[in-house]
Amino acid sequence: MGPKRELKFALESFWDKKSSAEDLKKVAADLRSSIWKQMSAVGIKYIPSNTFSYYDQVLDATSMLGAVPPRYGWSGGEIGFDTYFSMARGNASVPAMEMTKWFDTNYHFIVPELGPDVKFSYASHKAVDEFKEAKALGVNTVPVLIGPVSYLLLSKPAKGIDKTFSLLSLLPKILPVYNEVISELKAAGASWIQFDEPTLVMDLDSQQLGAFTTAYADLESTLSGLNVLIETYFADLTPEAYKTLTGLKGVTAYGLDLVRGTQTVELVKKDFPKGKHLFAGVVDGRNIWANDLASSLSTLQALEAVVGKGIQFSFAFYGLCMKNNLVVSTSCSLLHTAVDLVNETKLDDEIKSWLAFAAQKVVEVNALAKALAGQKDEAFFSSNAAAQASRKSSPRVTNEAVQKAAAALKGSDHRRATNVSARLDAQQKKLSLPILPTTTIGSFPQTVELRKVRREFKANKVSEDDYVKAMKEEIKKVVDLQEELDIDVLVHGEPERNDMVEYFGEQLSGFAFTVNGWVQSYGSRCVKPPIIYGDVSRPKPMTVFWSSAAQSMTKRPMKGMLTGPVTILNWSFVRNDQPRFETCYQIALAIKDEVEDLEKANINVIQIDEAALREGLPLRKSEHAFYLKWAVHSFRITNCGVKDTTQIHTHMCYSNFNDIIHSIIDMDADVITIENSRSDEKLLSVFREGVKYGAGIGPGVYDIHSPRIPSTEEIADRINKMLAVLETKILWVNPDCGLKTRKYDEVKPALNNMVAAVKQLRAKL
Ligand code: GLN
Ligand code: ZN
Repeated sequence: MGPKRELKFALESFWDKKSSAEDLKKVAADLRSSIWKQMSAVGIKYIPSNTFSYYDQVLDATSMLGAVPPRYGWSGGEIGFDTYFSMARGNASVPAMEMTKWFDTNYHFIVPELGPDVKFSYASHKAVDEFKEAKALGVNTVPVLIGPVSYLLLSKPAKGIDKTFSLLSLLPKILPVYNEVISELKAAGASWIQFDEPTLVMDLDSQQLGAFTTAYADLESTLSGLNVLIETYFADLTPEAYKTLTGLKGVTAYGLDLVRGTQTVELVKKDFPKGKHLFAGVVDGRNIWANDLASSLSTLQALEAVVGKGIQFSFAFYGLCMKNNLVVSTSCSLLHTAVDLVNETKLDDEIKSWLAFAAQKVVEVNALAKALAGQKDEAFFSSNAAAQASRKSSPRVTNEAVQKAAAALKGSDHRRATNVSARLDAQQKKLSLPILPTTTIGSFPQTVELRKVRREFKANKVSEDDYVKAMKEEIKKVVDLQEELDIDVLVHGEPERNDMVEYFGEQLSGFAFTVNGWVQSYGSRCVKPPIIYGDVSRPKPMTVFWSSAAQSMTKRPMKGMLTGPVTILNWSFVRNDQPRFETCYQIALAIKDEVEDLEKANINVIQIDEAALREGLPLRKSEHAFYLKWAVHSFRITNCGVKDTTQIHTHMCYSNFNDIIHSIIDMDADVITIENSRSDEKLLSVFREGVKYGAGIGPGVYDIHSPRIPSTEEIADRINKMLAVLETKILWVNPDCGLKTRKYDEVKPALNNMVAAVKQLRAKL
């Protein structure tokens, strides 16, 4: 994206037709060249190319393979911006291709849609063009391609193609294109090539593993003469995957993530093929912490003893020559971390000394490599050691009371004393809600004026009094609208929040915020995750003021609105000096204080959003149970102390709950609202299959991600489908997520139709 999101602004201006394709290409070329030059100035030896993307790296591979779905009307030739951005974003007549999360990151890729009839052809020369571009600048790069097997494993069968279609059966059809690309790269002067095969860290069966063997055997002869690196990341390899990887024909180097892959070092020590290179990913590409250089160096030295500075016989030089087989590397690409610490004007020097963004990470990589080669920069290592020590001992990091309280939670259980159906009865006595109660997820549209007031208040351009007044007016508007629409359980609309995590992070201790620490989420969209650097506590109530003000404006129940601990954790850069669950427990305790203060302020319904609980699921199945256990426990900690009559809601985004439905039940919320609008059938099938769900449930009845206004009939129809499976008394009716990104002229008619549908049904029930 660039240190100040240059690509984002260039893309959006091009899409808005405010600048030309040439302008966009110029920004892109400048970004590429500055990164190549930066890396070469630092001393990096293997500098990657083809890592730049106008939208997404997987979409780039789809373009390279000419796998354009027919609906985009592409008629062959080199794929240009029109076709490329239509696939990415849709156009006036066709919707975009689907996107989904890249492994367990917050980056979304465009999912290839494949079937038996796709005609693959070499349709984007981007990899070769960028290699040549770098070469012209004097930088001999390592071109990076998504590996053929990962590409297929990340695809889905196109619409109309049988779900059981074997995507791997397309391997023989895509390999010829890969062969063409490799030949061209060779002809252009490449001496190394990198294939990213991150799916190797997933749970794979023997047929899937076999596909890697087949694929690289096919590419072997074209690859001959090149050094070939297969890069894996984000987790350990299983022993089987490691065996497959190290047995691949024609491959000369393996890239392993030694940060997340904590067992991988052992695999290497046990057995590493002679004469091959190890790209040891010791510098964390997923986080923002400065590397512990001394510790990395000792890992590297241990590896060097195994991998070898092996003396090898080289025919090329007619004699013996030393060859260093150990290469220092980041654990994965630097796409998932922030760009450059230099642009952080608001972080103090102490915290800065603990951090390394992408630009600093390449310096660390180089320092480690030099140290390995006997040229240790003592000053750099000792200032790093001093920073590590200061982070360990800083009173800003450690809060003993919090540590004790969090430690006491481990191994114990926290549950509300009464079971959910008795609680629902007690709550109903207090709330007297009609059947099929209606509600929304929390936010209402954020208008330009609203954002402006918030921004100006932050910049001290608007007084606190004026700010509070403006927010209260906004809340009143939202409350009045909901009463007018006749919604049963109201929300205040969240006008005071820019972001559901940042808002809380800013009020909790232990969090720091960057000004430019952006990370790409998808396309031109970026997020700026908070940094959790210390023990988390809540100095004072965070939302009570606004929720009480909102409740005072209506007789209907007003939902308190909080972000849950797991979501705060999953959407932040987290500490690497203690396990994730410990940080999560700390946040849970802070949210628990807030829940209890809301209850004291007579807020009888409190929603604790766990939008990101599902997406934090580890990549490997063997780790799911442990994660779900502490994540669900953390959620329960937040509300185990409330009265039976206080109704706890939670909300979750993303479909695909079926595999974690038992954990959702174990959260023991009174009501859950779920984003579901695109997959009613899937969600309902679990209940149809006999899963007992006694709590309230509100599967979203329309998709808020689209400007489309659903009709009353359509909503009634969907509610009826749910009623066929779920008991009437537990069903809630709501949109599928917050309304923040919609406009009022979409929200009003949509909610109006939603309430109308409910009233029709109530009359019949
Ligand atoms: N309460 C939040 C909102 O309505 C929930 C957002 C989310 O689920 N992503 O905006
Ligand atoms: Zn949501």
